[in-house]
Order: sequence, then structure tokens, then C-alpha cells
Amino acid sequence: MIFDLDGVVTNTAAVHAAAWKTVFDAFLAERAEREGGPVVPFDADGDYRRYVDGRDRYDGVATFLASRGVDIPRGTPDDPPEAETVCGVGNRKNAAFVAHLDEHGVEAFPSTIALLRALRDRGTPRALFSASRNARPVLRAADAEDLFDAIVDGLVAEELGLPGKPDPAILLEAARRIDAEPANTAVVEDALAGVRAGRDGGFGLVIGIARGDADPGALAVEGADIVVSDLADVTLEDHP
Ligand SMILES: [Mg+2]
Repeated sequence: MIFDLDGVVTNTAAVHAAAWKTVFDAFLAERAEREGGPVVPFDADGDYRRYVDGRDRYDGVATFLASRGVDIPRGTPDDPPEAETVCGVGNRKNAAFVAHLDEHGVEAFPSTIALLRALRDRGTPRALFSASRNARPVLRAADAEDLFDAIVDGLVAEELGLPGKPDPAILLEAARRIDAEPANTAVVEDALAGVRAGRDGGFGLVIGIARGDADPGALAVEGADIVVSDLADVTLEDHP
């Protein structure tokens, strides 16, 4: 069984959304002041889900800005946070995210931790896949790092040159590292891009998580086999 991190294991999807909003709203306001035109703020719900959630940091910036018809140079990951590039904006957001973590810590979802422990007790291999380059510090802060046999995060993806979600590459690498065939592997995801990656990777079961106001139908359209509001709704059964 393989798990996404933010919004599945830890309650950090909302932290990401808030950090993106801070950065994008400042960016859009500054740009509108320079070039004229109205400021349409970043929607931490709709825009976040459609363009940013689950995607690589820089792909998220490029995808959202493209949706607003804004075209700035990509730059490189070494760009300073103040650079007017896709990578600069992404690095700005990361600084906001890390500052929030330092200040407030990380909360894990008790139902996910309970399921991970139950799987571990049954000897079912578990891997984590995440676009985040902060996956290990986030897991450590949530005291959940040792619940996984393998972790494929944004740093691993970069090292191996794996494309981000909605491409299934990081999910397939996570399954490979626990010696699991995709057809015999269940995926747990809360992002539209991640659910689509699960479907396109040929995984046996794609469980979508739609918390709070999230639309379960949208996850189903992207390819979730079942959608739950929390993993407390999932029970394990033996199949001979
Ligand atoms: Mg997520």
C-alpha cells in the first residue's frame, strides 16, 4: 500500500494552501500595480486543488500562472526567493511553508497512523510517495517516518529525474521499492493530480480522500475507485 503525504498522513495540505495564497496574492498584487488590471486573488480551495496540489513545487507555480495567462521565465532551483521566476516564486512559497512548520509543528491524522500500524502488524509493505522535498522533515515532525519501508519524495524524484504527478513515475518507484506489482498495490491520495497518477499507473486500487469541503466526485472523475472522507472509513480484510 502506498501513501501520499500532505493531506493523507499529515494535516499539511492546508498549510501548503495557505503558504501558496500568501505568495501568489503578493505576486499578483505587485504585478497588477505594475501593469494595471484587476487583482484576482489565489483561491486557496479551487485554484489550489486544480493547479497546485500534488504537483512539484515549480510545476505548481507554472501551472497556476499559466491559468492566469502569466508567463515568466522558469529560472533554476537555485534562484533566490525574490527572483521574478517560476523557481523564485516556488522558493518564496517554500520559505513560507517551512516558517509555518517551525512555528506550529505538524499534526498527523490519527486514522492514517492507525491504518499504517495495522498494515505493519500484518506485514503489509508500506511506502510513501510525495512531490514534496520536505517529506522527511514533515514525517519526522509527525513521528511517522518509521511507519514506511520506503520513501520516494521530491528529492528522490529530482535525483532520478522522475517527472512529477500527474505522471505516475514516483508512485511506480514507491511500489518498486517495496517489491509490489502496481496491480497488487493500493494508492491513497487526496490530490486530483495524484489520483490521476494512480489511475494511469495501473494500480489495483486508488483510494481518494476528500476531506471537509473537497468534492468526492472530482476525485472519482480523475480515477479514484473509491472516495472516503477519512481513512477511518477503510477496514482491512483478509483475502485467501
Ligand atoms: Mg496530498
